[in-house]
Amino acid sequence: MKNVKFSIWYLPAALLLLLMVQSLFVAPRPVQVSYSELQDLTERNAIEKALITSDEIRFQLRPDFEVTGELGKKVDEAKGVVGSLASDRTITFVATRPPGLDVAPLVADLTKHHVEFSGEIADDFWRTLLIGWLLPFGLILLMWNFIARRMGGGGAAGALSFGRNKAKIYGEDDVEARFSDVAGIDEAKAELESVVSFLRDPAHFQRLGGRIPKGVLLVGPPGTGKTLLARAIAGEARVPFFSISGSEFIEMFVGLGAARVRDLFEQAKGKAPCIVFIDELDAVGKSRAGAGLQMGRHDEQEQTLNQLLVEMDGFDASKGVVLLAATNRPEVLDPALLRAGRFDRRIIVELPDRVGREKILRVHLKSVKAASDVDVDGIAARTPGFSGADLANLVNEAALLAAQKGAVAVETAHFLEAADRLMTGLERRSRVLRPEDKTLVAHHESGHALVAALLENSDPVTKITIIPRSIGALGFTMQLPTEDRVLMRRAELLDQIAILLGGRVAEELVFGDVSTGAQDDLERASQLARQMVCIYGMSEKLGPLSYGRRESAFLGEVLGRPQSASEATAVAIDEEVASLVRQSHARARQLLSERRRGLDRLAQTLESAETLEGEALTRALTDAKIRDTERLVA
Ligand code: ADP
Ligand code: MG
Ligand code: ZN
Repeated sequence: MKNVKFSIWYLPAALLLLLMVQSLFVAPRPVQVSYSELQDLTERNAIEKALITSDEIRFQLRPDFEVTGELGKKVDEAKGVVGSLASDRTITFVATRPPGLDVAPLVADLTKHHVEFSGEIADDFWRTLLIGWLLPFGLILLMWNFIARRMGGGGAAGALSFGRNKAKIYGEDDVEARFSDVAGIDEAKAELESVVSFLRDPAHFQRLGGRIPKGVLLVGPPGTGKTLLARAIAGEARVPFFSISGSEFIEMFVGLGAARVRDLFEQAKGKAPCIVFIDELDAVGKSRAGAGLQMGRHDEQEQTLNQLLVEMDGFDASKGVVLLAATNRPEVLDPALLRAGRFDRRIIVELPDRVGREKILRVHLKSVKAASDVDVDGIAARTPGFSGADLANLVNEAALLAAQKGAVAVETAHFLEAADRLMTGLERRSRVLRPEDKTLVAHHESGHALVAALLENSDPVTKITIIPRSIGALGFTMQLPTEDRVLMRRAELLDQIAILLGGRVAEELVFGDVSTGAQDDLERASQLARQMVCIYGMSEKLGPLSYGRRESAFLGEVLGRPQSASEATAVAIDEEVASLVRQSHARARQLLSERRRGLDRLAQTLESAETLEGEALTRALTDAKIRDTERLVA
């Protein structure tokens, strides 16, 4: 019972609840009447039913009988505070039986007036105790227990401590993770190392007036080592480390999440320098504007989020509290969280490439008894799309497999078999590429890149990768604008459409078949074409007219059919859009079919390297640009 903290508010609340429940079960106080009053009421045919016991007669009145005068007053008194809940009908009257009195005449009277009566001796004390007190109390206990369980706490202790935050606190020496346990994500590691040096020596960094980042957000697909990285920081910085998962803030009761946030920061400030780590930040930080939130959760979440924002603004990073958070879903985060002064530093943690996978494998190989000649590079090559967690899993599976087969050490063959097994399991997650898909994606991305490199009005290609992304893309071609764009010329837009179609064209040329991988490209190309026609008046056929309005500041929202266009114009718009897309498609096809060999070579280079950038990319692109015909001449 370590965490018990009994808030003074729970007691009155429980009592109030008890009273309310009790009023439903306990009738008002019985009304005392004299024996003669009883006889009188019997005569007036007012009694509905009666119970005759050895020392008293209890009875109830007919619902239609109106009590007046002296008796009426007594009834009102008896109803008391909860009176409004009780009808006259539920009021019990009690007449004390004069000692030695024969009830035979009364019984005869009751019979005459058709009163339902019985003569059992009922011990009301126990009944009242049971129904009036024990039952409601039991119900409350049950409810409490239920709540406690929903809160994730165990039994009563959980219920009593639910206002407190559930952060796990690790002391300075409790965290064993080190940076050396994290491999293959070197850029993220390097960035975080600066945070560690700050925590070790804050004064050194503030010397020149620089501001320390308040919040560092780790973003990347699941299993890439975000949580591990955060723990490694804690281990390296040798400071207390508060760790809590975002979902633990959000509980059943409104206001509780906010209380937890407050509590967490309170504790952290007392232990500075320290690190507060919120894992799965998206659970708290979901955009307040976002639709589709569960009813009821909305308020709670908003309150929790607001509290988090307040606390983040309220603490001073120079005091040595660094807030670290991780998420798989940065796109759902509330923009307020990402503003300057909050999570002002973002660190992207990507799926590892082949070299990264090899390093991660080496880290995990230390924990199993592996043969000395394991082909680590070969295993890395066979596991495209595996995350760090997948690789850790792979090593473990291989060790189990080897043990099952009675081997003395884990051999390369065991790793490869484990990889195959995992792969079939992982494929359904659509993140891991089959070898033939990898080839296809390599050609698709090469298509985009080569078209982009060839067209004049496009930004330079800075990176091509076929490592699957969290956003669902299987590959990615990155172009970096040389300067900020405010205006886009028609020629630039047309080139952009051609580049978007380049991926699909490469598939057509190389495989004679097309895949679903181009869906996003096609969507964007069609939208761009539609915007050219409808918004920017860039179609010769339709002229410089605008047939719609951009509804958001971003290029990319889908345009509906323009409201102000006639049926004929709408048809013309559709035709013009289609024609723009088709022209660009033809252009991309022309460019790529002239360079079939170059395309193949680029794709091969990309397939084995998985990521091309910098010098290697320039070389590969320059080579791929050469026309097949020129190549023959040379
Ligand atoms: P995330 O928080 O990004 O979903 P985790 O940090 O929980 O991923 O990773 C789960 C496990 O996978 C780690 O405990 C570690 O064993 C392994 N792992 C993941 N990424 C790496 C990495 N980059 N280097 C070494 N091990 C890793
Ligand atoms: Mg995690
Ligand atoms: Zn594409």
